[in-house]
Amino acid sequence: MFFIELINNVSLLIVLTMLFKITASRYKFDTLSQRVVFGLIFGLVGLVGMMTPLHYADGVIFDGRSIILFVAGFFGGPLVAVISALIIAAYRAWIGGTGVYVGLAVIMISAAIGVFCYFLRTKVKVNLSWLHLFVAGFTVHVIMLLLFLLLPGDDGIKVIMEVGPTILLIYPLATLLVCLLFQDYDEKENVRRDLHQLAYYDSVTGLPNRLFQVENINSVLASCKTPECKGALILFSIDRFKTINDARGHAVGDMLLCAVADRLRTVIDSEYTLARNTASEFSVLLKGMFENAQDIDAFALNQASKIHTGLKFPVYIGKDEIFISISIGIATFPRVSEDTAGDVLRRADTAMHHAKQDGGNQTMLFEPTMASHIEQKFQIERELRKAISAGELRLYLQSQVNSSGAVVGAEALVRWQHPTRGRVMPLTFIPIAEETDLIADVDAWVLREACTVLASNEIYNRPISISVNISPRHFRQSGFVMNVKQILADTGADPTHLKLEITESLLIHNVNDVIAKMLELTSLGIHFSLDDFGTGYSSLSHLKRLPIHELKIDKTFVQDAPTDPDDAALVESVLAVAKHMKISVVAEGVETKEQAAFLNARAEVLHQGYLYSRPEPAEIWVSKLSEAVSVA
Ligand code: C2E
Ligand code: MG
Ligand code: MG
Repeated sequence: MFFIELINNVSLLIVLTMLFKITASRYKFDTLSQRVVFGLIFGLVGLVGMMTPLHYADGVIFDGRSIILFVAGFFGGPLVAVISALIIAAYRAWIGGTGVYVGLAVIMISAAIGVFCYFLRTKVKVNLSWLHLFVAGFTVHVIMLLLFLLLPGDDGIKVIMEVGPTILLIYPLATLLVCLLFQDYDEKENVRRDLHQLAYYDSVTGLPNRLFQVENINSVLASCKTPECKGALILFSIDRFKTINDARGHAVGDMLLCAVADRLRTVIDSEYTLARNTASEFSVLLKGMFENAQDIDAFALNQASKIHTGLKFPVYIGKDEIFISISIGIATFPRVSEDTAGDVLRRADTAMHHAKQDGGNQTMLFEPTMASHIEQKFQIERELRKAISAGELRLYLQSQVNSSGAVVGAEALVRWQHPTRGRVMPLTFIPIAEETDLIADVDAWVLREACTVLASNEIYNRPISISVNISPRHFRQSGFVMNVKQILADTGADPTHLKLEITESLLIHNVNDVIAKMLELTSLGIHFSLDDFGTGYSSLSHLKRLPIHELKIDKTFVQDAPTDPDDAALVESVLAVAKHMKISVVAEGVETKEQAAFLNARAEVLHQGYLYSRPEPAEIWVSKLSEAVSVA
């Protein structure tokens, strides 16, 4: 009879548990409120179970609370266990009777063992099998029976003798059954949470991903019903991220992205969504009430400037100090009532590419006159193909001077005299040319023009060198060395007056092949200069292996060196390395007397920059040089 009643009692409990499981799987709560609600439900299930108890003797009742509380602790953790235990304990105290203290002790012990198993499962990561669960259930109920010994007189021994075996036969099995039912729910819930994480979050930085941001923009667009409600998407990418990734490997690239994400988290207010859209691209979604369009523009620009400032300080990856800059594009919305997230993203992307093309490290607000990046790229590529044969490229030269101000050389810089756009700067078309073999044609054209200048009557016998930029893609072509030799032969230029500027990104792949080509050209008397030094992220140790004669310190470091201790330290260390390796140095972008004085106080370096002269058409540069020499 007792056996049948106990089975009834436990069955009710299992039915209640299943109902709870079905309910819980339908409603999603955030973590804290979910736990509170779960605690309340576990407590209520326990209560209902206790309302149809099995009365063994006056004040001695059996119900499934030990099972419920173990399960509450095991799956829900401490908070769920405490809430459900309090509810059940309050009810048990209200019932009263001789067994009340024992009853309360059973409640505490069951919940505590459940919580203990919860920590084994979640923190110690013990994989609890069904056997473990059975043993846990068995332990709970052995302890429960032992607690009956606290009953007055020999009641406890009587209870244990009479119902102990039945209890130990049914309760641990029931505990196991309820746990298995819950485990199934728990696993499904974990899979759901993982799904969600994968679909909406970036696995590298832990930030929301592009899909999350797109849905977010759409929901902001849908919820912005009043004219004052406005938003802005700030889209930005790390300049030259591909170079870092190629130079240092993807692991360092990933660490850099995580460090950038951490820095951004401290800069951006948590009420705005920060996401990682693609490889090196992040976005921030702003929303608020603004009287007019200028107010949201100003607010977004202010946030963008906070981002620039936050990322100005170097990022540390292990012992490495990496300086980064970013290009930001901003699109405010809504512009038209049918605006979608796709439209907003496209506009921000167009603005961002304009910021990049214009030199990077800056912010641009979208303007309708900006053509989309893809459109622009396609058009430039098509037109540039024709431009070379149509004679639209122009050779410009920018002086390089020694510490006493005398011109000792020049850098060849290309310009494109476009029939309708006017003069197009290299940063607009060189990156596009670099994506195709067009760059080899541009470089070869510049090299031929520069060699023609070197071979001209005005220059040939003077100690003047000309530096020509060579793109990595061009350098790697199999016919590169042959072409250079051919151009030298055709023009009659003196190879000892020719410098080829290469960048660190050339040194990433097939270094041996690169060195072999460099040595072949060096044997002709050509010198090599390492351009944009300090921005390429490759290590100084690379230099030892290369036939490099000159380093060009990038203008970003030169310009801030007199005021920024980090840049000053970088310039000083480059000067020290160059001195040690007997390599000459050119400082790019010298614009002020302070910058020139800073450099002159430290080493004998060549200067190139607006302080002395801007790049000018080759024929003007040559004639000015001839005049200067004849006056002297
Ligand atoms: P780069 O080789 O580092 O050239 C130096 C750039 O700094 C030039 O920009 C020059 O005009 C600019 N500059 C020089 N002094 C100053 C200064 O005092 N202040 C500032 N703010 N800038 C200064 P430019 O002519 O716009 O060329 C940009 C880049 O385009 C070059 O950087 C080079 O990477 C590339 N480029 C130019 N011509 C060629 C070419 O014929 N072939 C290849 N492959 N790349 C080229
Ligand atoms: Mg250069
Ligand atoms: Mg440079």
